[in-house]
Amino acid sequence: MLDGETAVVTGGSSGNGRAISLAFAREGADVVVADIQSDPREGGTPTHEQIPEETDAEAAFVECDVTSRDDLEAAMDAAEEFGGVTSMVNNAGIFRGENFVDVTEEQYDQLMDINVKGVFFGAQAAAKRMRANESGGTIVNLSSVAGLQGSAEFVTYCTSKGAVRLLTYSLAATLGPDGIRVNAIHPGLIQTTMTTEDVPIFGTDEEDAFVETIPSGRAGQPEDVADAALYLASDLSGYVNGESLVVDGGMAHTQ
Ligand code: NAP
Repeated sequence: MLDGETAVVTGGSSGNGRAISLAFAREGADVVVADIQSDPREGGTPTHEQIPEETDAEAAFVECDVTSRDDLEAAMDAAEEFGGVTSMVNNAGIFRGENFVDVTEEQYDQLMDINVKGVFFGAQAAAKRMRANESGGTIVNLSSVAGLQGSAEFVTYCTSKGAVRLLTYSLAATLGPDGIRVNAIHPGLIQTTMTTEDVPIFGTDEEDAFVETIPSGRAGQPEDVADAALYLASDLSGYVNGESLVVDGGMAHTQ
């Protein structure tokens, strides 16, 4: 599905980004894993080492903090070694829940810098290369069901993911004429370190009750998100642009 493509996946060392990187490589794309560190949070072989072990694709790791435009450019430079980025996945993000009235400016800035500014300038860095290379391409942004509906507990996170949704629509409008399609994925509850450690749901008393609210009857896995990303990065979605693809087992629209 992605033969000849070069992908840059931010936050590609762990969780959803790791699954996306592996899925893209299995479908033929060379992959630049752009993350602040290469060890998967969940353990195991670093993504950029596993790719050449398991697939015919090439892979590189670039130490990249998405809040740094220089780091994002370094990831794009690494992609030039594989022919230039044609598929950008702005996946890196953090999740926290704080009582709204207790949120500090520092906490707000950190979350918005990673979840919004990182996506904004990640898309910009990729689009500039796609334009310069006249390659066209795809950009996939990781939003969340928290970008579709409000929440009492996750006010800052919802703010950030809602911004990613409208950023996606705006990018589709401005980059469409360059042959660049931009779409967002809105995952529901996905079992990654984010939901087992950062804001634990798995392994807590809440887990069963939460899963019971999901019409499909199970939590999502990173591979579910990777399948959606694969679709949006491939020609199968050739006329899909500026779309919000909800990957949540039916949760968001039934509660
Ligand atoms: P994860 O398991 O915590 O993985 C996130 C990865 O991003 C980690 O490797 C992390 O590195 C990296 N990262 C963090 N800050 C970064 C930065 N400034 N620059 C570059 N990389 C950075 O999380 P995940 O669950 O896979 O989440 C991935 C995306 O899916 C996020 O945008 C998240 O909001 C979205 N999402 C997740 C869920 C869910 O239920 N899991 C639901 C909806 C949306 P470190 O390990 O060093 O921190």
